[in-house]
Amino acid sequence: MANPLYDTLFGRHAGKTTAFLHLEGGVTLTHAGFLGRAARFAHVLTGLGLKPGDRLAVQIDKSADALALYAACVQAGVIFLPLNTAYTADEVRYFVTDSGAAAFVCQPARRNEMAPVAKAAGCQLETLGTENDGSFADRATSASDKFETVARGADDLAAFLYTSGTTGRSKGAMLTQANLLSNAQTLADLWRFTARDVLLHALPIFHTHGLFVATNVTLVAGGAMIFMPKLDIDRLIDRMPHATAMMGVPTFYTRLLDDARFTSETAANMRLFISGSAPLLAETHVDFETRTGHRILERYGMTETNMNTSNPYEGERRAGTVGLPLPDVELKITDPKTGAILPDGEIGSIEVRGPNVFKGYWQMPEKTAQELREDGFFITGDLGRRDADGYVTIVGRDKDLIISGGYNIYPKEVELLLDDQPGVLESAVIGVPHPDFGETVVALLVARKDAELDLDQITADMAASLAKFKQPRKLIVLPELPRNTMGKVQKNVLRDTYRDLFH
Ligand code: ATP
Ligand code: MG
Repeated sequence: MANPLYDTLFGRHAGKTTAFLHLEGGVTLTHAGFLGRAARFAHVLTGLGLKPGDRLAVQIDKSADALALYAACVQAGVIFLPLNTAYTADEVRYFVTDSGAAAFVCQPARRNEMAPVAKAAGCQLETLGTENDGSFADRATSASDKFETVARGADDLAAFLYTSGTTGRSKGAMLTQANLLSNAQTLADLWRFTARDVLLHALPIFHTHGLFVATNVTLVAGGAMIFMPKLDIDRLIDRMPHATAMMGVPTFYTRLLDDARFTSETAANMRLFISGSAPLLAETHVDFETRTGHRILERYGMTETNMNTSNPYEGERRAGTVGLPLPDVELKITDPKTGAILPDGEIGSIEVRGPNVFKGYWQMPEKTAQELREDGFFITGDLGRRDADGYVTIVGRDKDLIISGGYNIYPKEVELLLDDQPGVLESAVIGVPHPDFGETVVALLVARKDAELDLDQITADMAASLAKFKQPRKLIVLPELPRNTMGKVQKNVLRDTYRDLFH
């Protein structure tokens, strides 16, 4: 029976003894071995009483089994709902309750801590560890490694993925089989993934980047992954000569560049480096090319849509841009107030439409109606512009836009100038309440290793380069910027910290 997502990602590898996951300690799991494990897990799911369309909440460490659980859900028609392993029991309570999960799989060591959460949500609790341990793994031992794939349609839900919560409370994005499948196929094509590829995978798998972009693209192409539990620069450098491609957040690239052992030699076997989830500094792009000869390919996406734009595989990978809309994605830049399409070069709301765009936020009909237009365009919440030749540049989130004395200030414009100042490693520009202007500009700066920042000089330079209303009223040096697990700068945390600066 048909199950397009299962059939395309997993089913067609049935019986193949080709490598799928290269794990720590030199162990390799074949496609067939992985599918057998997934089938056993699918039996466990049905044994627990889960029916197609039920949600399985999962908060477990990254491992082959964690990925097999995703495959099992797809095969059994259960909606997969992975959660950030950093979430506390209180945070998890919201997700498990909100999603109406029928069962919750947690780390074995946190069973006692999570028991009240499962109880409050009225769902079953199971555990799954990384070493074939936990109650879920125990149930799988006697299960068959063949499972009759449950029929599903392209429009059926495959996953609930909660957004990263960078701008507020995380929202549950409902993703269909077709959402995931279309994007995986488009990206695998665009980035030329084949069965010969070996992807260096050090991203978490509770987020769209590591779970859908990295894993689904590899599965569609039939390639393998070097599957690391987490980012470990030593391991990354050690394994890179055995890989052909890597996907990372910008921090991966800055950390590699910080390490003198990372050379063009290390990257000699690689054909592609991809970055996303947060803006890659143009400088990182340039430094990376100088060091390795590779131009990082930056792309742009989000939980609700998977990927929307990408720099080209062949053709110019333009630093500081997120490239062109994907072949099956329409993108427009609109006036945030009226929704009217803006001419090329003007900054406005980025809206996207395509087979990748989600069904809506779970149990948030109002929010869905605000952001997902009836004609299918999704208002991403990001601001950007498109150049005449189609390249899209993101200037920030609409929630980060600063309005001072009635003027709009795009933090990115100021940040780019600050980043160019001597000794500045990176910067974040935010708006804070101001009695006269409503809001005013504050800049947080991080210095390079061993550099002293000359704040007077920077202030003078800003005054020379920027209109008065855009100039930071205050420069503050921090040891580092607050970031969440996906490497995103948490501007809401900064805004909270400095809200009383001018009061
Ligand atoms: P929340 O929606 O809960 O506030 P979030 O938007 O950070 O959290 P994600 O869906 O994980 O949650 O992230 C998507 C966002 O990440 C995009 O809307 C965009 O702001 C940012 N992003 C992704 N890729 C890039 C990129 N290449 N350059 C700049 N920003 C990016
Ligand atoms: Mg978002």
